Amino acid sequence: MQKRLSIVMAEVHLRCLGGCREVGRSAFLLDVNGKKLLIDYGISLNETPSFPLHVRAIDVDVVVISHAHLDHSGSVPLLYTSKIKPYTVSTALSAVVLRYLLADMLKLSGYYLPFEVHEVQEMYESMTLVDNDEVVDVGDVQVRFIHAGHVPGSSMILISCEGFKALYTGDINLVESQLLYPADKQQILRECPIDLLIIESTYGDRAHEPRKIVEEKFVQAVMEVVEGGGVVLIPAFAYGRAQEIMCVLYKYLRDAVEVYVDGMAKALSRELLDYHMYLKDLKLYKEALKKVRFVKRAEQRAEILKKKGIVVISPAGMLRGGPSTYYASILADREDS
Ligand SMILES: [Zn+2]
Repeated sequence: MQKRLSIVMAEVHLRCLGGCREVGRSAFLLDVNGKKLLIDYGISLNETPSFPLHVRAIDVDVVVISHAHLDHSGSVPLLYTSKIKPYTVSTALSAVVLRYLLADMLKLSGYYLPFEVHEVQEMYESMTLVDNDEVVDVGDVQVRFIHAGHVPGSSMILISCEGFKALYTGDINLVESQLLYPADKQQILRECPIDLLIIESTYGDRAHEPRKIVEEKFVQAVMEVVEGGGVVLIPAFAYGRAQEIMCVLYKYLRDAVEVYVDGMAKALSRELLDYHMYLKDLKLYKEALKKVRFVKRAEQRAEILKKKGIVVISPAGMLRGGPSTYYASILADREDS
């Protein structure tokens, strides 16, 4: 096989500001020929929030967001606390979802955060929205967004300049799910050789069973509880995971079980309909969405838990609490659930 030789002319410096040897607060400052790209600027929400290493807004030419999960984007509003407003780029769907997640974080955090609604608004006013496969020019540096397969609208980021290429994978999924196609490997292979690779390694030390077997085992476990008259509580991220579970349950079970969806997953599930270009199978998604019942009021929850043989999908993201803790506190004493 013939190897292509890349002649790198660019001067490159990388600073890892967070997300190395830890989960959360991913942030990388890449300087290519003097253009400074801040790739992700996440937050860790544990007992107290932790932020990536500080970077001044004036020292950033562009902020690039790989996807809306807060561990990759929750600290971006911090860059809007001074008069300098860097411009931020993400896919349109990531921007929409991030707005929900940041609002939720500000409302529920219960601890001091060094920014407020005003900074979130400033961030939105400075945003450029792109689609995957689009290229943004930052001087002589090109930034390309490539489908990452992780959540709808998520991207890998390819940075090119004068023969130099860097790939930041963000969170990636190389396996096809019911909701999404896998990360675009062909596009990456076409771009090889890559000079600098920053890759997610969260589950890199584990071999997963084939997806189909995992789905079948999951559905079987759900049905065992449902057939015994119990309630299956599925705490899932409101964005991505909740919709994937809806699709899996619909694909395997159709009308065999009543599925309730609570919390922010309701609004985000509806938003996804406007961004169906990011979904693998719009027909399946629409049908799954039509079959689930949204929990409209908090008082409804106690009534739902009196039912037998149902499934409740309720978000339990990085912010602990919310409806899933209520469901769990009631169901903990029930042997059939
Ligand atoms: Zn993620």
